Amino acid sequence: MILVQAMPDELSAAHAGRFGRLNRLPGHKVHLVLRAVLRADGHEVDGLTMVELLALASGMSSIAYAQAHSMIPALRVATKGDVIRPHGHREDRSYTKRLGTMAPKEGGFVCLKCLKRDLERFGFSWFRRVHHLIGVDWCINHGDALWQVATSDPFSALPHVLKARGQLRELDACAHSLDEADPFLQRYVTISASLLTLAQPIPTTQLHRPIRERATGLGLRRSMLGKQPPLSDRVRDLAPKRWMQAHVPGLHPHSRRPARIEGLGSTPTHELEHTQFVHE
Ligand SMILES: [Zn+2]
Repeated sequence: MILVQAMPDELSAAHAGRFGRLNRLPGHKVHLVLRAVLRADGHEVDGLTMVELLALASGMSSIAYAQAHSMIPALRVATKGDVIRPHGHREDRSYTKRLGTMAPKEGGFVCLKCLKRDLERFGFSWFRRVHHLIGVDWCINHGDALWQVATSDPFSALPHVLKARGQLRELDACAHSLDEADPFLQRYVTISASLLTLAQPIPTTQLHRPIRERATGLGLRRSMLGKQPPLSDRVRDLAPKRWMQAHVPGLHPHSRRPARIEGLGSTPTHELEHTQFVHE
């Protein structure tokens, strides 16, 4: 069996897929075999999550791996808990287990320029975290629209292999490039990508005040009830409809679902529940 280290910004689920493919393992065997290989190497592996096993395979701590290769920083942006620990911490293993190999959006996504650069530099390509954020249809480094893997098992092959097989299709993004995208989306993309650099969740108590002040400055409602327009109206006013329909259908004007972002700045005990980022 061959262990493989994670590549820069490689998505944890795709890293696991690369280990499985290199060793010709069916998907359901990857966790078991990886654990057995690491145990044979002398590691204590009982009870470890997939992320912790992948960290060991990469010679990294689980904290360093979770921060650099999992989507936890974008999935668990804030916490209402009293104790704040870095992502991947042993005491937060339940989050590491639940979110460690999850991605905010389903499927595999690649930028053809990143793919070409990786292929030239390393001789192969891989799936990057920064291409798997909800609503981010462009590569933040190159500005090009992303391409999506057109198979049900997106990490079953490396991106350049999928490209050669004709199994990538360009996303039908609302702008051909990030430069041409609406300024709201450009800002959204920058903020979304920056979430990946968060080493630990932000305490919600730190977020309520700035959100409340911003809402007040914009003349928006600061609680679930009131006469002023809610926060979701502000998003509906700013975001392109086509993008909203594709990525945040709950906020689309025709949706009857209550918007989950209302009341973000309302009370210190309100559970911060951004439409996509906080799973807690
Ligand atoms: Zn790129």
